[in-house]
Amino acid sequence: MKDIIVVGAGPGGLTAAIELKKLEPKNNIIILEKSSEVGGHLVSGAILQRNEYYEYISKYSLKYNTVITNENIWRLTKNSYYNLTRFVPDEYRNKRNILIDIGEVCKALALEATRIGVKICTCCAVDGFLNYKDSIVGLTLAGGNKIKSDHVIVAEGACGTLTEKIFKHYNIKINKRYALGIREERRYEINKLTSNNVGSIYHTIGWPSDDNSNGGFVYCYKDKVVIGYVTYLDYSNCYINPYNEFERFKSHPKISELIKGTVKTKYSAKIIAINDMRNPTVACFHGCSIIGCAFGLLDSMKLKGLHNAIISGKMVAEKYITTTTKMVTNIIDYLTDIDLINNLKISNQTSTIFQKYGAVVAFIYKKINKIILSCLLNFKFKNKWFNYNKKPPRDWNVKDNRDDSLMFSDINYGPDSHISVMDEMKHKIYDLKLNNKMSSRFCPAGVFRWEKQFKHYVFKINHTNCLQCKACLVKTAEKTIDWNVCKNGDGPNFITENYK
Ligand SMILES: Cc1cc2nc3c(=O)[nH]c(=O)nc-3n(C[C@H](O)[C@H](O)[C@H](O)COP(=O)(O)OP(=O)(O)OC[C@H]3O[C@@H](n4cnc5c(N)ncnc54)[C@H](O)[C@@H]3O)c2cc1C
Ligand code: SF4
Repeated sequence: MKDIIVVGAGPGGLTAAIELKKLEPKNNIIILEKSSEVGGHLVSGAILQRNEYYEYISKYSLKYNTVITNENIWRLTKNSYYNLTRFVPDEYRNKRNILIDIGEVCKALALEATRIGVKICTCCAVDGFLNYKDSIVGLTLAGGNKIKSDHVIVAEGACGTLTEKIFKHYNIKINKRYALGIREERRYEINKLTSNNVGSIYHTIGWPSDDNSNGGFVYCYKDKVVIGYVTYLDYSNCYINPYNEFERFKSHPKISELIKGTVKTKYSAKIIAINDMRNPTVACFHGCSIIGCAFGLLDSMKLKGLHNAIISGKMVAEKYITTTTKMVTNIIDYLTDIDLINNLKISNQTSTIFQKYGAVVAFIYKKINKIILSCLLNFKFKNKWFNYNKKPPRDWNVKDNRDDSLMFSDINYGPDSHISVMDEMKHKIYDLKLNNKMSSRFCPAGVFRWEKQFKHYVFKINHTNCLQCKACLVKTAEKTIDWNVCKNGDGPNFITENYK
């Protein structure tokens, strides 16, 4: 009998736990989740690919499981748009995929997991690991408790605290690109309970951004609309404010038409990490494997990762049970068998061309040169941050509504701050002087402020606003902000649907 701990009750962690328990019921499987309830810290669009939906999810009776019938891909100009839908290769299309609610899906998976004997502990944030010689033999929790394990499956999503510590310990360097996704859920007003646009999805590039990578999405469910905007965090113009970009996106005439008659009911934000898969290093160590978005298994063209999280969860469970040494050797070898890694590599190359030369060139590349060029071109993500490009603001006349939006995030914190500045002098030079108070703009919750007191600026951190998106870990100049996981389930609660 083995004690296996899964860190994170997202789609990856829950699938791994369910598969492990089904394959070997004698094992003790425990899931540790930092949020106060399963799904509380999850943020996603959310479109799930049909294969994974029908294989793993369709058996649960869910409120949201709408088949996508109308897909639109637009390039926005300031007041109009070009419809690019028919130029986009099928691989990047979502028609017949399924619109789900990630919180509801994870609640259903959690109920199934507990039914078969998996133990789920919420309000349990993992802070670090215990090691003996070269093996990981347990975990430390925020608050100081220690817990021993035979194997740990790390499924804590992008920019995970534990993942980063493990990579640092084993000196693993992965080239990742980061983006910040800001998302709102909006309900139809009482007199108009259902939409006549159900099953429609809209993905956009172009305005308000002048970067080919950033873009927005609008997904239409039966009684709500989910709208979001993704800003890549390697932008060099320190005046960019991802929240304001989202507000400007919402104000576009075509987009505001889509959300007409709805009111905001939930506001959330989360970082997205994409592994460039150039040098897929080991994601498994002695006593531990890293799956899903913690390893960056996200399709960079579609920005979709739910299916890869689910697949990697299932794969790692099967590998663990069938390996006689009870030590998963290399998840990458295993995933390559099913072409997951190769597909991610090709998607990354197309996405690099997309950013450099635009959508049309990228889609032509994808269509006609799939095999030949993918061998010749081996692009690497270019992280272009901090070249101190001081462009004056463009036509950005948006009221900063971050405080109002936070009322829809159900945030709860104790008095102790989980955020601090590591080197105040360095922070002042890079954030205040060289980047003109950049941290006061990139945080979607407005946690950081520079306040003028007499002749000097003082840095203020309002930790009780934090959405736990983790953008500050990536975007603070010279990484001067220290962000720690919270105990007692502190933080936001993004759950909207309760699955029974
Ligand atoms: C705005 C946005 C829109 C997206 N839209 C889509 C989409 O439409 N389709 C799609 O396929 N993908 C989408 N994605 C990506 C998708 O959300 C992720 O790929 C997917 O959720 C990854 O699953 P995961 O299980 O690896 O991690 P996550 O879903 O991130 O789950 C990680 C879990 O671990 C918990 N956790 C984290 N750290 C700790 C810790 N230290 N201790 C304990 N628990 C911890 C978290 O609270 C969370 O519950 C989107 C992402 C964003 C941000
Ligand atoms: S403080 Fe950091 S983690 Fe919290 S909302 Fe702001 S950027 Fe996100």
